[in-house]
Amino acid sequence: MAFVPTARIDLDALRHNLAVARAAAPGRKAMAVIKADAYGHGLARIAAALGDADALAVARLGEAVALHDAGCRRPIVLLEGCLDAEELAEAAARDFVPVVHHSEQLELLRTARPARPLACWLKVDTGMHRLGFAPDMAADAFTQLSAMDSVRGQPGLMTHLANADDRWDPTTAAQLALFKPLADRFAVPTSVANSAGILGCPDSHGDWIRPGLMLYGASPFLNGKGGDDSLRPVMTLSARLIAVNQLKAGDPVGYGGSWRCPQDMAVGVVGIGYGDGYPREIAGDTPVLVNGRQTRIVARVSMDMVTVDLSGLPAARVGDPVTLWGEGLPVERIALAADTIPYTLFCGITSRVQYDYVGGKAPARENQA
Ligand SMILES: *Cc1c(COP(=O)(O)O)cnc(C)c1O
Repeated sequence: MAFVPTARIDLDALRHNLAVARAAAPGRKAMAVIKADAYGHGLARIAAALGDADALAVARLGEAVALHDAGCRRPIVLLEGCLDAEELAEAAARDFVPVVHHSEQLELLRTARPARPLACWLKVDTGMHRLGFAPDMAADAFTQLSAMDSVRGQPGLMTHLANADDRWDPTTAAQLALFKPLADRFAVPTSVANSAGILGCPDSHGDWIRPGLMLYGASPFLNGKGGDDSLRPVMTLSARLIAVNQLKAGDPVGYGGSWRCPQDMAVGVVGIGYGDGYPREIAGDTPVLVNGRQTRIVARVSMDMVTVDLSGLPAARVGDPVTLWGEGLPVERIALAADTIPYTLFCGITSRVQYDYVGGKAPARENQA
């Protein structure tokens, strides 16, 4: 019996969630976003299980290189593009698809003599003010890119939604209104929608959807739950009870003694802490499942341990499984308690956690990732 914290990754749920994205945007192509180690789920395994995606997208060159080295030969989009000549040469050699979002990247492409021309996307800044050409500069950038020897064909047009997590926020419509004239003028493939756009805003679907968070089963919406949109949790984070203590009323528990037993009671110690990625910031009374039954975290989260109220669970024993989030306990609930979002919880899982992959297609074509 393994006492190390475990992230069980359900590849069937992952594939189901991609199907949900496709069903929400029928007929569109899907670029599965697997940056940051597939949101903490494991880059190569997730890529391999997403064989149905038309392309994969990562933030940085190094992530794409890792995928390519793992045998992946599908189109890999670099969402932050190539940042110097060396990166551009590497991207060209491996046939990656960079996003071009800044005039310096135009210059890089103009002066580069890559091994072969690159397919690319042109990013338009329609209001996020992070990456992309301003709408009034984008047409010129598009024309320049289309004429370059280092660029294969015409670039696609991409933008990114800033506020789509709130279905009622008017910013999304304003962004789409800025994007549309360019899309109409150049009639090349477009890509706009992140998970929130895919599920909440059909007008944003364009030709290529870019699902990220929803693939992993969490809701991209403020106060949403993945289940609201038929998403299934992919990661279930669990650990085990490593001690069960009978304590007296008034006994302090954990660092600082910030919590005291309100009565004589059993308190369980679970072998997982912030050193594994469970957030130290969580509020008191955050739910956990011990043997599948809900109870609550008490006292401060330590590096390697958390403590739980076992007063209603007299049968709980050392070795019993404890679910921190996932199947039966929505990650959104934990994110709320930690005053954060599911993205940071997923990305925060550390290398101490053991990954168990279940389901998915037989890994016979593993090296095709
Ligand atoms: C991360 C990212 C996505 C995916 O966003 P989700 O909210 O996780 O669906 C899509 N597009 C770009 C440019 C991104 O950086």
